[in-house]
Amino acid sequence: MSDNRWPHAAPGDLHRFARYVLTSDDAEDCWIWLGGIEPDGGYGRFRQHGGPVIAAHRWSYLAHHGPTDWPVVRHRCDIRVCVNPHHLQAGTQAGNVDDTARRGTWSPIPWPQLAYVLREHARRADHDAIAQLTARPRQLELPIP
Ligand SMILES: [Zn+2]
Repeated sequence: MSDNRWPHAAPGDLHRFARYVLTSDDAEDCWIWLGGIEPDGGYGRFRQHGGPVIAAHRWSYLAHHGPTDWPVVRHRCDIRVCVNPHHLQAGTQAGNVDDTARRGTWSPIPWPQLAYVLREHARRADHDAIAQLTARPRQLELPIP
């Protein structure tokens, strides 16, 4: 069965992944990961069917856009537990470091803690609370390539 959110998903992964995401019909909204979080960085973690654990946002990017040769998947929105493929962009580690330096401090809550707070709101499907915490300075967003 195909899903236009993740048309390149590997068999066995799609339904498991989708169960762990609070999605929204508005493409602007962040889709918050409900599953495991990597505590140091605040990124979602997903165990692939029969495979290793990878960053949830990386899985979402690949499953939506298809394979990429770029080593890193960056967040245009800065929200590390966001897995909305429209907020993700492939790039380099250097670019990722630039993102952090340029945009790293706008959140009132440190990134790893913010991940857990957002997950709690997402588990209650509290879209208003999520919208407040993910509102960010638009001028800091990466351009769409
Ligand atoms: Zn986002």
